[in-house]
Amino acid sequence: MKIENIKVLKTLLSESRNLIIIPHTNPDGDAIGSCLALSNLLKKSGHNVSLISPNKPPHFLNWTPGFEDILYFDSETKNCEKKIKASELIFTLDFNDLNRIGELGDIVKSSKSKKIMIDHHQNPKDYADLTFSEPEIGSTCELLFEIIISMGYEDLIDQSISKCIYLGIMTDTGSFQYSSVTSRTHQIIAQLIDKGIDQNEIHNKVYNDSSASRLKVLGSALSNMNQIEGLKTAYMFLKRNDLEKFDYQKGDSEGIVNYGLSLKDVIFSVIFIEDINDSNNVKISFRSQGDFSCNEFAGKYFNGGGHGNAAGGRNDGNAEDAINKFLKILPNYKEKLIK
Ligand code: 5GP
Ligand code: MN
Repeated sequence: MKIENIKVLKTLLSESRNLIIIPHTNPDGDAIGSCLALSNLLKKSGHNVSLISPNKPPHFLNWTPGFEDILYFDSETKNCEKKIKASELIFTLDFNDLNRIGELGDIVKSSKSKKIMIDHHQNPKDYADLTFSEPEIGSTCELLFEIIISMGYEDLIDQSISKCIYLGIMTDTGSFQYSSVTSRTHQIIAQLIDKGIDQNEIHNKVYNDSSASRLKVLGSALSNMNQIEGLKTAYMFLKRNDLEKFDYQKGDSEGIVNYGLSLKDVIFSVIFIEDINDSNNVKISFRSQGDFSCNEFAGKYFNGGGHGNAAGGRNDGNAEDAINKFLKILPNYKEKLIK
């Protein structure tokens, strides 16, 4: 991290009072954790902060400290626009391309406020006045912790802020199992535990709060699983009909794609999920183990991106259309998949 960037951030904060913080659409634990950690911290240092999310996060994040103050652009558009107009600084967290926040992106783009990106995805776009982009760090929350420490604000990190940061590190590392986890990650976790957080409680709130619908959706995806012999790949799908039958709620499908990687000799797992609100859209999640780049694959063929081992994307049409396209492309990657 550039020390110069920390200086610039401190100056910007000292000159500005009205701040906006924005996570990506369909915010996950890292997006919500980092936005709420930053928002709680900046409120403590006397700023006027609005956290504006493009839409609602899944229910298992609703305990995060400060959650009740989040504004939602999709349901409170006018109010959000007013706040952005009155702002001086806009933080964008856990994404690096304004197309990740839908229509809100145009408003941010045309705003006169200074923009600050804090993110850990690959290939950052050049929209911010100040960019903290660290793709080798496993979560935006871990990066944010480092920024807070570099700014000398360690004493402002209380138990609430620690819970938020722990949430993002835990969810973006698959509970500390991915190769992005370093000894530094564990040192940070140790510091958060010393602030008095209950990690078992956070784990239970996020992972052991399933509805029956979530387990049924998982069952449906697993029973639709296909393994592609010779390409070390597995894929699953969820059709709109099934989602409706099982009373699908947002967030129910999160993490299902990882099950594909638990198969012996599978290093690439993909799930195709038909959009319950749009009959011409399929959301796709990609996960890999080792060097196979999900980010590149998702970006090249499925309007998406993300990280080397975890990326997302989308396709027009239904699940079958997306799967057919995928099965046509995949053999071109044989060498990369089986090496
Ligand atoms: P998921 O499959 O869980 O939605 O996303 C996996 C990772 O890829 C996350 O880090 C997420 O932020 C990123 N991601 C998901 N969808 C997109 C997308 O459409 N574009 C880009 N650039 N990244 C995405
Ligand atoms: Mn993240």
